[in-house]
Amino acid sequence: MAQTSEYDCTNCGACCRCFPIFASAEDAEQEIRIKSETRRLEPHLATKDKVYQLYPLPFHQRCAFLLQDQLCSIYATRPEVCRRFAAGSTQCIEARERSGVVKHHTSTK
Ligand code: SF4
Ligand code: SF4
Repeated sequence: MAQTSEYDCTNCGACCRCFPIFASAEDAEQEIRIKSETRRLEPHLATKDKVYQLYPLPFHQRCAFLLQDQLCSIYATRPEVCRRFAAGSTQCIEARERSGVVKHHTSTK
């Protein structure tokens, strides 16, 4: 997650609940908890950017590092894909709508 004045990530965390999120081996070197608290993909399923699945169980519908207050518990060392995710992007808006953070848009204002 990132943050802009219009899209406040505080108390949101929708993107951390809506999408399957993966970390790379490099991400896991930066943050040791990734290795111990997420699910490592079978070698034949892994790619360069997808080695660890941050939803440890199939029915676990949120990232393992998302706290109850919707903040990231590894924010300083979060995976690269999380750093690139832009607040206000199309995916951000979709996540917020799907999570009920905001109601579906009926106007552009
Ligand atoms: S969905 Fe958007 S506003 Fe919410 S935490 Fe993610 S980037 Fe921030
Ligand atoms: S690591 Fe942090 S920013 Fe990334 S999906 Fe999980 S809770 Fe969200």
